[in-house]
Amino acid sequence: MNDVAIHWFRQDLRLSDNPALCKACERGGLLPIYILDDVTAGPDAMGAASRWWLHEALAMLNRQLGGHLRLYRGDARQIIPALAKSYGASSVSWTRCYEPWRVKRDKEIVDRLQALNSESIRLNGSLLWEPWDIKKQDGTPYKVFTPFFRKGCLQAIPPAAPMAAPEKIEYASALADDGAVALASLGLLPDIAWHEQMVPHWDIGEEGASKALERFLEEGLNGYKSGRDFPSLPHVSRLSPYLHWGHISPNQIWHALEALEEGDIPARDMDHFRSELAWREFSHSLLYYNQDLATKPLQNKFAQLEWRDDPVALTAWQKGKTGIPIVDAGMRELWQTGYMHNRVRMIVASFLVKNLRTDWRKGEAWFWDTLVDADLANNAASWQWVAGCGADAAPYFRIFNPVLQAEKFDPEGHYIRRFVPELASLPNKYLFQPWTAPEPVLSRAGVTLGQTYPLPIVDLKASREAALEAYHALS
Ligand code: FAD
Repeated sequence: MNDVAIHWFRQDLRLSDNPALCKACERGGLLPIYILDDVTAGPDAMGAASRWWLHEALAMLNRQLGGHLRLYRGDARQIIPALAKSYGASSVSWTRCYEPWRVKRDKEIVDRLQALNSESIRLNGSLLWEPWDIKKQDGTPYKVFTPFFRKGCLQAIPPAAPMAAPEKIEYASALADDGAVALASLGLLPDIAWHEQMVPHWDIGEEGASKALERFLEEGLNGYKSGRDFPSLPHVSRLSPYLHWGHISPNQIWHALEALEEGDIPARDMDHFRSELAWREFSHSLLYYNQDLATKPLQNKFAQLEWRDDPVALTAWQKGKTGIPIVDAGMRELWQTGYMHNRVRMIVASFLVKNLRTDWRKGEAWFWDTLVDADLANNAASWQWVAGCGADAAPYFRIFNPVLQAEKFDPEGHYIRRFVPELASLPNKYLFQPWTAPEPVLSRAGVTLGQTYPLPIVDLKASREAALEAYHALS
């Protein structure tokens, strides 16, 4: 094999079901590369938790590739054509991404490769359907989820069956002076080792993803529809970072569901889990067709909304010190593990945007920095949904009461006690709103409000009414 085929890994950090990688392996000796491109990413450059995950993921991928993965740092618009030229590569392949900055950058790279007579191979490996495959009959993108899922996704050509990993990979000989750097030189790990607490929670890489899927199919899927709202139950898959980084493809998950024996899992659970995968597709479609999804409300009228600028309250929210136990538990879960349960994401986001009246973009930015599944499409679409300004969003008057939410979805307080241990000895009756507990009860539980645990930073009822008033003024 004389031809060199470059495969540019991005959000497809796996060998199995990777059509673009398979194509490269057919074309010639493989030169597998990864580029840390903070230059073109600009303000969308990845956050700290993502960088930690990426560091581990690249180390793992390199092991899978027998040490052949080559790493670069800089502007991919320069690096890719330079590599194609110095290796005389007949093709460069990659799996498509849908972030606006990547779409724009990739187009420029295609043009530059064309000028060098090097073919660019761009395939889908991250979504069940490309955004342009799911459109309304009039050819416009869907703005409402249910028809997107029922009429669009479920009526479309079913997702392709997953491909096996390439059986044998022949590698191109690497050039010594092609600009490649060592993993440590990418500088992905933080100076202060705050990421170490996240390590025990994740098994990063393709094998970890398969195990997470297997565990979920065996222990979590049965009962998913009702159990997925309870943060202390094992009824969510925790597959989101694996999907974001492409350690597993959505097609692999979809087909793993198809392969289950009929009758093993209730149809309602299967259908609901498929619909959550479709929310991911919907968010990507929204981002693809609304390039400023992360910065601009989809519904224009919300651009007029006046936000409060309260850095002290924002810091209390970020640190999990708001004095509202379910909010604090969620924010601490995020800090300690890089993940937060979906129900709790909705509660903490509603609290920030509605009770604290803080601009949803500040919440989006914090999640971007601290989530290991931080994903431009899912994060932006979800924040807009909670703020009420997005497509098919929760109506603005839907303001979660975090006390009632905790009573309903963490009735035994297991989740709160795990992440807010200073309240662990409070009886359930007061756990969800410790400020209502009589002094002797607090004292017996070792709680001194304002000292061992904060008093609430906001009055839930008054702030709810103020939010409603502000939102009403828009209509
Ligand atoms: P499961 O319930 O097991 O769902 C399976 C998969 O479906 C998930 O892995 C995910 O890929 C997809 N999915 C589920 N719910 C959603 C949803 N509402 N929107 C889009 N896809 C979904 N998800 C991210 O992947 N990255 C983010 O940055 C992100 N930010 C969010 C911010 C807010 C304010 C909110 C309310 C939600 C956010 N979500 C985000 C969506 C959702 O919370 C997570 O995808 C989910 O909690 C991941 O956990 P899981 O894998 O156990 O989910």
